[in-house]
Amino acid sequence: MKSNVHTFIGCEGDFEEAQLVIFGAPFDSTTSFRPGTRFAADHIRLDSFGLETYSPYFDKDLSDYVLTDIGNLDLPFGNAERALALIEETADEILAAKKMPFLIGGEHLVSLGTIRAAFKHYPDMALIHFDAHTDLRDHYMDEPLSHASVIRRSWDFLGDGNIFQFCIRSGERAEFEWAKSHTHLEKFTYNTLADVVSKLGSQRPVYVTIDLDVFDPSIFSGTGTPEPGGIFWNDLISILKSLSGLNIIGADVVELSPHYDPTGVSTATACKTIRELMLTMLK
Ligand code: MN
Ligand code: MN
Repeated sequence: MKSNVHTFIGCEGDFEEAQLVIFGAPFDSTTSFRPGTRFAADHIRLDSFGLETYSPYFDKDLSDYVLTDIGNLDLPFGNAERALALIEETADEILAAKKMPFLIGGEHLVSLGTIRAAFKHYPDMALIHFDAHTDLRDHYMDEPLSHASVIRRSWDFLGDGNIFQFCIRSGERAEFEWAKSHTHLEKFTYNTLADVVSKLGSQRPVYVTIDLDVFDPSIFSGTGTPEPGGIFWNDLISILKSLSGLNIIGADVVELSPHYDPTGVSTATACKTIRELMLTMLK
């Protein structure tokens, strides 16, 4: 008998044979403004069945690959370090089995767990980050673990020159100043992405993190800290086409708060982002 559980569309394969493994991290305890991302993964799975498995953008189909969705982690609300340890442990198991972890948040802090695991397996990795926000604060309200600090905490072990940030349009002046000597940060746009990609080449391990508030709120209102001035759908496709030659070893899509968009368009956009990003990673 096969269990009847909700997975992301096209991700019903066996773990043993899967190339890529989806898991959800329903955690939003450090969210600075409007919470709700804890509901994202479940809404995404349900609404993913409104999609096709085939992508006309990439002429690839999820059903051509063995993919699996292992469901959500049980995470303790109010204990960020413990939640991160559980996420890291899961991503570590996936990477140790030579598979690609694909994390659905959750708030952006959850990415730190997967990035830590990726660094353990690929110490020469680079991090590519799409977001409205810098996420470079050293502390947020005296807390070093916050969704406003996730990229700064990743820099703690990745170091200078290994983090590439695009479409950033919000943060403190001090964060933008700090970025000048520690990360590659492109404000507002992604014009330097092609150069970065050719510099990284096809061998270097790359982890991709997409904070969905990178989208313009007019097409993506379902997020806790909306920021006008974002990218549109066809920008995302151009971005992913640029990334397609890279050796992407893991990824995440975070910060959907489904209840802030009762039309469901944000959730549909999140689903389609996940499909296209998975197909970008699958060779
Ligand atoms: Mn953001
Ligand atoms: Mn973020």
